[in-house]
Order: sequence, then C-alpha cells, then structure tokens
Amino acid sequence: MGRALHLLSEEPESFEAFADLLKRAGGCVAIDGGLATQLEQHGADIKDPLWSALCLITSPDLIRKVHKEYLEAGAEVLVTASYQATLQGFEARGLTQAEGEALLQKSVTIACEERDRFWDQYIDCLRLGLAESGMYRRALIAASIGSYGAFLADGSEYSGDYGPDMTKTKLKDFHRRRLSVLADAGADLLAFETIPCKLEAQAFVEILEEEDIQIPSWLVFNSKDGLNVVNGDSFDECIALAANSKKVVAVGINCTPPRFIDGMIRAARKVTSKPIVVYPNSGECYDGIKKEWITCTGMGEKHFISHVAEWRESGANLIGGCCRTTPITIKAISKVLHDQALPTSSPSQVPTLQKSEKSCSDQTLRLNFVPLSPSPELH
Ligand SMILES: [Zn+2]
Repeated sequence: MGRALHLLSEEPESFEAFADLLKRAGGCVAIDGGLATQLEQHGADIKDPLWSALCLITSPDLIRKVHKEYLEAGAEVLVTASYQATLQGFEARGLTQAEGEALLQKSVTIACEERDRFWDQYIDCLRLGLAESGMYRRALIAASIGSYGAFLADGSEYSGDYGPDMTKTKLKDFHRRRLSVLADAGADLLAFETIPCKLEAQAFVEILEEEDIQIPSWLVFNSKDGLNVVNGDSFDECIALAANSKKVVAVGINCTPPRFIDGMIRAARKVTSKPIVVYPNSGECYDGIKKEWITCTGMGEKHFISHVAEWRESGANLIGGCCRTTPITIKAISKVLHDQALPTSSPSQVPTLQKSEKSCSDQTLRLNFVPLSPSPELH
C-alpha cells in the first residue's frame, strides 16, 4: 500500500487528467470510432501507403470534420490521424524530416483545436440554456502510434510477421523519434495501437522510459483468436508487460472482432488492475493487400452495441470502435455508458457556469446539443 502511494506521488500532473476523466465518468468513458472509415465515407481516397495520414497532407479539413462528428456523438477521447503517419513513410513521399515532423504535430493540433472549439461551443450553449448539462465532458486527445506493420502497409500488423531479421533495437530505432515528436505536440495521451507482438510492446515501453515521456500512454493489442495477439504471443503476457510500465495508464484490445472482446477483458483483468481500453472493429475482415474490408463475419452495429454493457461489466473502462465503426456506433456506446454511469458519477461534470453575453450563434450546433438518444438505425 505504501509503495502504491509512493508511486502515485511520482506521477506527473499530466496523468491526473486521465484519472480525472475516468472518475467523472463513473469509471467508463466512450472513445471515438474508425477514423479512416469515416474519412472514406466523406469521399477521401486513402488507398495509399500513408492511409488516413494522407489526409494530413491532402484534406486536413476532412479530419477536422470527422473529429467533430465523434465529439458530437459523445467521444471523450479522440485518437489522432497519426496511426500510419511515420517519418519514414513521409520521407518515402519526398518530404523532409522537418516536414514530416510538422505533419505529426499537425495531427495533434487539429484534434486539440476541434476538441477546444467543440467544448467552448458547448459551454456557450450551456450558459444560454441551449444544451443539457452533463451531456459532454471535455475530451482528451490521444496521439495515435501505429505499429511497425502499419508503416509497412502490407497488413503485417494483422499477422505480426516482421520477418526473421527484426529485432527490438530495430523497432526502437524506427519508433523513437516519432514517439518523441508526438509526445511533445500537446496531446494528453499516447495511444499505441494494433500491436501485433510482444517484441514491439517491449520496444514501446522501453522508449517511454528511455525518453522519459511525460504524458501517459495506453497500449492495445489485436487478436485473431481471442487468446493470443496476432503473431501468436500470449495476450496475457503482453498485457502484463505493458501494464508493468509506470508510463502506461491503460492496456487493452483494438481492431479485434467483438465476439472475442469479453473474454479478453476478463483475461486482462486477471493480470492488471489498470484501466482496460477496448475498441473492437466491426467484426468484418480486412484484406491488407487489397486494402479492402470484406463482409464475412460482421455482426452489424446493433450486435456490437448489445455487447457494450457486458464489456463494461467485465471490467472495461474505455470503450470505442476501430475499423468500420462510425459516429452512430459511438453515439450508441455513449448512450449506454451515460445510462449506466455509477452513482459516483458527478452530475456537475461541467464547470459551474456564469451567465454570459456571448451568443451561441451556430444553429447547427444548437441542434447537436440535444439529449443523447439511440440512433434510429439501431432499432
Ligand atoms: Zn482497426
């Protein structure tokens, strides 16, 4: 006990925002859903090695639009458009190191600006009685760091097969600079996503220590069988390794079919008391070579949402969606979590407000701040 308190006192202030969000939400918050899916929905062509990161160059306004849609849907953590943004990938497109670093920073800036704009508008609407108190909490920004396989853009983050010559040192060399740039860009968290093997998780936690990263991180793994991460390493061991780092505030699962999630939450809960984050994909299959989703075992949005209460019950603390999930999914998740918030959830989760002269002039925004209700598509 004494040691636990000692460790807590050593945590940087930046860790408090994450703990505070969970506490105010009554223990479980909604995070956002598929970014690339939604960008494509709006017409972006991202069949490119840079995938959604291409939009940082070609159409940043679309990224802003998608972030806003997820905020409106109730996401309390936004994950940035940097999943497939790597300095090496940008260099391969002819960009300089400085230009690549600027794009990484831009991914965080865009998300922070949209979060701040949305929050300011919500507060204004609250002051004018045009929004309902407690509907939203100020979101945190998680800077996405995709695995090495995401850079390869050959689907190897879904196999974990990095070839016989891959080493932890090579992975650390690959990730180190990007990780530092994103950690200094103003995000609240780092989100290490779609980690396919234990070796890469080890590389990540070692860089966090070696670079003394001052914002907290989460590490999430993907699985094809509900028992192991995709390269066959033990999921339990990966979770234990990640959770053992003082720099890591949450661990979990992403881009994995919904049917495996409950069992994996329970398995993770056995090896860590840290918050568990889950953002499954829709259950469809991804062809990493063709870069296409194939409808095979997809269970549909309604089925996905039917699991949310169960995941929370089993120990999940952050719930969102990965590929092929949309703001509709997140809105429904948010509704489930709001409805089931524990009694400790404070109704005063927005600041005490003073009357303001400032007007809420955006009619669209007024319409968006209506009480959360299930989407008609889910019925
Ligand atoms: Zn995914």
